[in-house]
Amino acid sequence: MTPNKTPVPPPATPPKPPLEWKPANLWLLLFALVALFWLRDLWVASTQVQPIPYSEFLQHLKTGQLESVTVGSQFIEGKLKTAQADGRTRVVTTRVAPELARELAGYDVRFEGVVENTLLRDLLSWVVPALLLLAVWSFMARRMAAQGGLGGMLSVGKSRARLHSETDIKVSFDDVAGVDEAKAELRESVDFLKNPKSYGRLGAHMPKGILLVGPPGTGKTLLARAMAGEAGVPFFSITGSEFVEMFVGVGAARVRDLFEQARASAPCIIFIDELDALGRARGAGPMTGGHDEKEQTLNQLLAEMDGFDASTGVVILAATNRPEILDPALLRAGRFDRQVLVDRPDRKGRADVLRVHLKKVTLGTDIDPDAVAALTPGFAGADLANLVNEAALLATRRGADAVAMADFTAAVERIVAGLEHHQRVLGEHERRTVAVHEIGHALVAMTLPGTDPVHKISIIPRGVGALGYTLQRPSEDRYLARRSELRNRLAVLLGGRAAELLVIGEVSTGAADDLVKASDIAHDMVTRYGMSPEVGQVVYERQQPRFLDLPDAMTLERGLSDDTAQRIDAAIRALVDEAFDRATAILGERRALLDEYAQKLLAQESLSEADLQPMADLARKGPVPD
Ligand code: ADP
Ligand code: MG
Ligand code: ZN
Repeated sequence: MTPNKTPVPPPATPPKPPLEWKPANLWLLLFALVALFWLRDLWVASTQVQPIPYSEFLQHLKTGQLESVTVGSQFIEGKLKTAQADGRTRVVTTRVAPELARELAGYDVRFEGVVENTLLRDLLSWVVPALLLLAVWSFMARRMAAQGGLGGMLSVGKSRARLHSETDIKVSFDDVAGVDEAKAELRESVDFLKNPKSYGRLGAHMPKGILLVGPPGTGKTLLARAMAGEAGVPFFSITGSEFVEMFVGVGAARVRDLFEQARASAPCIIFIDELDALGRARGAGPMTGGHDEKEQTLNQLLAEMDGFDASTGVVILAATNRPEILDPALLRAGRFDRQVLVDRPDRKGRADVLRVHLKKVTLGTDIDPDAVAALTPGFAGADLANLVNEAALLATRRGADAVAMADFTAAVERIVAGLEHHQRVLGEHERRTVAVHEIGHALVAMTLPGTDPVHKISIIPRGVGALGYTLQRPSEDRYLARRSELRNRLAVLLGGRAAELLVIGEVSTGAADDLVKASDIAHDMVTRYGMSPEVGQVVYERQQPRFLDLPDAMTLERGLSDDTAQRIDAAIRALVDEAFDRATAILGERRALLDEYAQKLLAQESLSEADLQPMADLARKGPVPD
């Protein structure tokens, strides 16, 4: 074991460049060109009669021996009336500039033109530039190959997706820790890939597209590779930005090519990393040059996803840390309709991730993964891998035999200092406030009937929720809400703030978002749903007219008298105040539960549905204020 092994995944095998311009090839080419020129000259020489001096030609002309004359650009050819001694009837002479010829003819002198041998000049004038061009090309091709792409221009449109065969991927789910829920969701698809035929037995089909959503460094890419490793199938991966990299029109061709390759080697996994680079909502953002290109690529991707049958055994995985900017068309049924959350790990998850990475370094006896996990709230998997490496580096620099706990504390300080520049890290008091606030929401929700069940509570800093969040999934789609349900919803929203006031003794800014939502609901109850006896069943607000609605729609809005406006305001306030009082009453009755679970949440950072079950059972038993 080496102490400072960097925990990175095994590198992708570099693709082979398509054509090698070895020096040997270049010399061969040069030789061929020279030979060509030499042959040409030889041929020219053999087909032509030996030129005679121009003066001699003039002599023939003057004595009337010529029957006809053909004038070329370099040579003048004459046909003799009578054959010469050697039997030839043709004479050839090299042209001489006319004025010069006239002047020279005045003297009794023998003169002739010469055609210079242009072989060398030809070589220099265009063979050398051609060679230079070739050299530049081969240099570039090699550079591109070295950068991991298939050699440049020769393979434009060929997908740069790297094919990992089964033996390539040695990553398994064991290497990914702290994301148990995501692994559980993916396991089904692994079974499908292992045995696509039996899955279709009852006519069911797997989701085609799975989108891994989560902050950077939480192991999305790792998880995708692990999935291929587990299923033992080929893995085609490509990064969203690679699609739109080089030439216009290439992106769409790449998508087509990628799917073609995948279909040929099914069952397999296609993985599109950083989908947001490619799948940004169309028509959004500034109209830049690359815009159309992206749109074309995206359209091609959508078409390919629609065009193939899920039973072929190709699973398309994609990852993003910005799901909110994705084009909605990508998330529609039949495309990436299943989303898997890969969030930052909680305390136990961090300890698990650390155990994976600690295997790679030599450890002292005083290292406790749980203790390190406690020091690192908000760290993602990649941060933890980095932490282990930093600690190992520190120990190496110290000249120690093993990494000690002190190295870890020093490394944590370093990394946190780096993170603090751009990301907030919560202090102990803030964490407690957030924990109490979230349990407040959950406890009220569990007490009141008809509210959505609580699936998970988390106070992981920099997780998907801004500070902390209580995940309530609606159990059914509702079109109608009864008044009592809306009142309960209001109480749940105010439960956070009520808990803060009860336990901490003071309210904080953490409830700002809750208050906005609560005010909206109360406002609608009064002005749109006619649910307040003081105001009556008159609608005081229409839905905002939309962009192209008739202008008359706006004039329909009723003007409010001052008196009515006051009554509306009072009614809204009464609803919110009442909800706050109800929440406070509920929590006051269950103060022991509130304290106990706030403590638990603070320690664990996240509580699952199973963790919360005892609290839900007890909460329901207590009295419910009206
Ligand atoms: P993402 O794609 O979500 O940004 P990566 O999968 O690229 O994150 O993670 C980068 C590296 O961080 C991984 O190669 C691995 O070494 C480490 N890592 C991240 N998450 C985990 C995890 N959940 N378990 C173990 N290692 C992790
Ligand atoms: Mg990634
Ligand atoms: Zn809240």
